[in-house]
Amino acid sequence: MINQQRLVNEFLSLVRIDSLTKKERDMADALLKKLADMGYEPYEDETAGKIGGNAGNVICRIKGEQGKPALLLMAHMDTVVPGLNKKAVVEGDIIHTDGTTILGGDDAAGIAVILETIRSLKEDGTPFGDITIAFTVAEEGGLFGARNLDLSKIPVDYAFILDDGGPIGSVAVKAPYYNRFQAIFKGRAAHAGMEPEKGLNAILLASEAIAKMPHLGRIDEESTSNIGIIQGGQARNIVCDTCTVEGEVRSTQEEKIERFTKEILDSFRQSAEARGGNVDIELERMYPGYHIKEDDPIILLLKEASRLSGIPLQMHATGGGSDTNIINGLGIPAVDVSVGMEKVHSTQEMILISDMVKACEFLTAIIKAAYSYNR
Ligand SMILES: [Zn+2]
Repeated sequence: MINQQRLVNEFLSLVRIDSLTKKERDMADALLKKLADMGYEPYEDETAGKIGGNAGNVICRIKGEQGKPALLLMAHMDTVVPGLNKKAVVEGDIIHTDGTTILGGDDAAGIAVILETIRSLKEDGTPFGDITIAFTVAEEGGLFGARNLDLSKIPVDYAFILDDGGPIGSVAVKAPYYNRFQAIFKGRAAHAGMEPEKGLNAILLASEAIAKMPHLGRIDEESTSNIGIIQGGQARNIVCDTCTVEGEVRSTQEEKIERFTKEILDSFRQSAEARGGNVDIELERMYPGYHIKEDDPIILLLKEASRLSGIPLQMHATGGGSDTNIINGLGIPAVDVSVGMEKVHSTQEMILISDMVKACEFLTAIIKAAYSYNR
């Protein structure tokens, strides 16, 4: 049986811990201890050093009955800002903050739901197959923890990432590929008053290139692009010689993201060269997209979980990225499951206790559905 009070207490204890991206040390220590107290042998991987953070991913393998599908349950430990000194306020069924910080239900709710579900299954003596828990670092801003998660020695048949909002029972089955780029436009410095004709203004190069971008904003129903940061110039009286532009392109179609990215960056080059300048471009595929089809075994498993729990399954596409993208990219079928978080990444963030309870019931049903299959 899901223990609502224990779930709420766990959630509140996690919210109290500061755990900004790449500063998850206290959260990792707390989770290592909680999992050890539950009788498991959790460990921390080597990710901290690789990403310049102070903690690695926390991994815990729970041996189950053999011959059953092996599951991976994931949630991320880090939060966005403002996330220091979070004070949760419980008002009936609602948990929110005092309005000065985020709540961090993204993704403390995912962690609390996983812990409560495992505790209650154990308490009830419910049988299950192998389960691996991975609490990742630095999901916000780049999925760095998941990207460094080594699953090569851990067999996993299906993965469930508990890091989504929306009604309980909703799962993200489609998410875009993501490219990010940095374009450094290079002009020539000169004194702006005495000999501006000897200069070449990099801010002009950048702004002209952006104005002529073949794609910006909504490109089509499955693709978008954005310029998010522009930086350049040293002083008002110097013709600017360097201007940096940072942007992104997303699409659920790999062919499209490649084509749109190439068209944007080619137009940047042409535009800079037309004025005698040039541009250095760095392009990185941050993560792959995914699209789980209706007849995929993981969807059949979710439908069985929905039948067992009586919670309707709702499949949807998302425009954002999550650890789910990385796990799918490894060839492991993975979906992002709602834990009920609302208005995330804002000081209005909140969550319903009843939704977290229901999320535990849905996850329990997923684990039971998996157990009903043979590997
Ligand atoms: Zn999240």
